[in-house]
Amino acid sequence: MKSLSIIVPCYNEEQVIQQTYERIKSVISSLSYETFILFINDGSKDNTLNILKDIASKDQCVKIINFSRNFGHQPAVTAGINHCQTDLAVIIDADLQDPPEVIPDMLETMEREKANVVYCVRKTRAGESKFKLWSAKTFYRMLNRLSEVKFPIDTGDFRLIDSNIIREFNQLKEKGKYIRGLISWVGFKQVPFYYEREARFAGETKYPLKRMVALASKALLYFSKKPLLMATSLGFIAVVVGIILALWFVFGKIFGYTNAESGFTALMITVIFFGGIQLLTIGVLGQYIGILFDEVKERPEYIIETII
Ligand code: UDP
Ligand code: MG
Repeated sequence: MKSLSIIVPCYNEEQVIQQTYERIKSVISSLSYETFILFINDGSKDNTLNILKDIASKDQCVKIINFSRNFGHQPAVTAGINHCQTDLAVIIDADLQDPPEVIPDMLETMEREKANVVYCVRKTRAGESKFKLWSAKTFYRMLNRLSEVKFPIDTGDFRLIDSNIIREFNQLKEKGKYIRGLISWVGFKQVPFYYEREARFAGETKYPLKRMVALASKALLYFSKKPLLMATSLGFIAVVVGIILALWFVFGKIFGYTNAESGFTALMITVIFFGGIQLLTIGVLGQYIGILFDEVKERPEYIIETII
């Protein structure tokens, strides 16, 4: 019999976690897989850990990885993948936005297509703001243009992965992991699975705008060098324009077709504009140096306090 882990990252999910467990449990009890549920408690400040402990004390297939503090969603999922010892794993959110009921169909799709990854694509997304939908869409389109690997659109971390993916993923050394990107990057056969994304069952999103932007810039910086190329191109264009203008003014002075006294406005615009471009490109450079800084420190991605 094949084995399966359900990886559930949890951060302040006391309002849903019991419900989540029950729904996952009722789904997996009908499967012909030896199944474990792996909850990662990402430094919750509410009652989540106690509820999880209670669940684990009654159910042999439940394992809890308890972080020493809040490290974030991506490190929590990473810990789950690092610690699952099964043939297959499903990554799913704790808030029931990803319905556990589709897991059997995902497993079926994997068998039928002989795939290594079944990634879930959202046909619809209930209960999300217009802004979130629009920003997510625009962002993935942009990322696909810039990045060296292609990312499926409208896909989160909700997916089924097999042992090839788990093994390769666990060998990746980078600390700042953008998981959906890395799994795409690993390759093998990856097939989509369409589902309706539900509204959050209870509680509120842990991805406010600030965190969304942080995740987006991580994706961009870790998967694309094009911003650097764009900075170079911008510089190149500026040099060409500069040379043409310089020749124009020098000849203007010699042949007397420019008037050196006027031109204050043009001068100011040029100084301000190129000052801006310089700061912008230095900023882009700074972002990449920031990543290098974080990566060379080689701090662990997460710290585990207890495993239950
Ligand atoms: N999460 C986590 N650590 C965090 C933030 C979120 O483990 O620092 C978990 C959270 O409990 C949930 C999943 O990551 O299971 C997705 O978070 P959320 O539902 O808030 O994001 P959204 O669906 O709104 O994008
Ligand atoms: Mg959610």
